[in-house]
Amino acid sequence: METGPAARGASSGDRLRGDDCDRDWVWDRHVETAPPAEIFARASRRWETQFRHLAERSPFYAQKFREAGIGSSRVRLGDIGRLPFTTKDELKGAIDQEPPFGTNVCVPLDQVKRIYQTSGTAGAPSIVALSRRDIETWTEIGTRSYYATGIHDHHAVLSTYGAGPFVAGHTQFALTRMGVRAVPLGPGDTERVLFSLRSGIADTLLATPSFAQYIANRLEADLDSSSLALTHVVTGGEPGGGIPAIRDHMQTVLGATVNEVMGIGDVAPSLFGECPHQHGMHFCGAGHVWPELVDLETRELVTIESGAVGEMVYTSLTREAMPVVRFLSADIVRVEGTSCGCGRTGFRMRCLGRRDDMFIVRGVNVYPSAILAVIGEFKPRVTGRARVVRHGNQVSVQPPVPLEVEVPAGQRLDAALARQLEGAVRSRLTFRSTVELIPESAFGESTYKTRLSVTRE
Ligand SMILES: [Zn+2]
Repeated sequence: METGPAARGASSGDRLRGDDCDRDWVWDRHVETAPPAEIFARASRRWETQFRHLAERSPFYAQKFREAGIGSSRVRLGDIGRLPFTTKDELKGAIDQEPPFGTNVCVPLDQVKRIYQTSGTAGAPSIVALSRRDIETWTEIGTRSYYATGIHDHHAVLSTYGAGPFVAGHTQFALTRMGVRAVPLGPGDTERVLFSLRSGIADTLLATPSFAQYIANRLEADLDSSSLALTHVVTGGEPGGGIPAIRDHMQTVLGATVNEVMGIGDVAPSLFGECPHQHGMHFCGAGHVWPELVDLETRELVTIESGAVGEMVYTSLTREAMPVVRFLSADIVRVEGTSCGCGRTGFRMRCLGRRDDMFIVRGVNVYPSAILAVIGEFKPRVTGRARVVRHGNQVSVQPPVPLEVEVPAGQRLDAALARQLEGAVRSRLTFRSTVELIPESAFGESTYKTRLSVTRE
């Protein structure tokens, strides 16, 4: 399942390689290592209060519960499956109904102390409102997640997540809480990132995997990376940091441990963090968020256990301003396990991709992250970035599946390479593809998230 011989930069153990400090490697040991029964009991108590809060303060959820025939009768956490799911479209609809805050803002407006705007791929931006306590909760969950990756107060952390309006900017609160030396930069400021890494003012890089790969490729081309102070790369925002071919390449080039974090704007921006054992991201939201896994087609509950695949669903347990109940995240994950050498009891998972990025070839679900895993093995002849070209809103794709694969600048477009990539996709993923090689300069934006699939007519 995991990679074979440890690549250069790989970590092993509870701390990052080379970190010999004596701090506890778990931020909130009391909560993060609690047995499942204790976590469920605490969550159940908090849910009772949350459910009353929703019924009394959220016209949006009061109506949803009424329509589901629940009315005002109490629903225990163990019976939460009786409650309807919430979709992103419904949350947007709640905003549109009474803009700008909508019908799910459950506190008086003078208690809303922070507002993030979602990037909104379609239509107008939407907002996420936080009370003072919500800000603190997000910071607490984010701190657990980032601390889990191995970041301690003696690290110097270069963050390339913008400081706002997007929820990823909340990371700065977590970095402050941990007491690190923070080096905040904006997304896409490549030259400043390279300066910071070469000059040694940061030993930790937080970036999307696309950007981290881009930086790794740049550094590989012009520098002996063993002279960098960089020891740790934390990726987030999209799958990649957990794909062996991509992770191992970055670890080898940079000599740094690569692990990942993940969150979701409407729930908590950093909700999962991968520990230095590098076996998937731990759920770090215990006590504040109740996670469920559901089947992709039937939406029946799937037991969270090793090997399970499904869509993550989240319920807020302590949220004041904009709580969500059984929110369908559209993130498809594979559970890697429910225990870990680090002692955390939060389950471990890898994100396979967004529901929208998934497609079906001859009845088999395919995630673009699986394609990246195959393509990544061809580095350095390819950069590691690739995407699937789809037409219209089709979910079912007839082979050959059109793929665009990025190759490094200055490299000639080698037809033999394209055929080899097609052969690898065929043998590993069992479908035919047509690979078009795209030079780095023409592939498009490398500095933030790369869409894993692109729709063309
Ligand atoms: Zn762990």
